[in-house]
Amino acid sequence: MSRIELDACAQCDLLLNPARPAVGDNARCPRCGYLLQRPRKQSIERTFALSAAGLILILPANLLPLVGIKVLGNTRDGTLWSGVVTLYQEDMWAVAILVFLSSILFPLANIVLSLLVSGHLYFRKPNRFLPRWMRWLQHIEEWAMLEVYTLGIIVACVKLASMAELRFGFGLYAFVTLLIVNAMLASSLDQYLFWRRIEQLNHSHAP
Ligand SMILES: [Zn+2]
Repeated sequence: MSRIELDACAQCDLLLNPARPAVGDNARCPRCGYLLQRPRKQSIERTFALSAAGLILILPANLLPLVGIKVLGNTRDGTLWSGVVTLYQEDMWAVAILVFLSSILFPLANIVLSLLVSGHLYFRKPNRFLPRWMRWLQHIEEWAMLEVYTLGIIVACVKLASMAELRFGFGLYAFVTLLIVNAMLASSLDQYLFWRRIEQLNHSHAP
């Protein structure tokens, strides 16, 4: 008896014959239009390299000054982290938590999970936690919103530019690079390929 393999649309659960689109092409669900597959060139290698770069960048982006503000001879440096602390001290704890989650914790989790999953696939190391990490990664991707914080930085800079002298810090350069790496990371990860490789890897090494 031959086994029939079907894929289910993650959005509407429609059962489909597995499509095999070419690299650069994509496959969408015929009922709801959900993006099923978007094969990428060297998806695992690129995801691994980009998440490693992201992990290196995330420290300076969070801890080094983004902007220095000079008012009446006094210079104050603002880091991503000090921004969160200031918001909290000003009793805007809801905003502080939101900024912390969307610009520090979720991007960090996203990069660490990408590195873990792609690293295991790259070195062909089976791990029973791989499916769980992959599921977390799919959820967390929707919550990591570095772009929101970027917008905040731009608005603050424009407002302050007229009344204070602004100096861009190394943290900002690291942050902008991190933003680019993150965007490339999101587009390099081929979820369908990742899931298939995870299954292959864990099955071939199953006891
Ligand atoms: Zn669908």
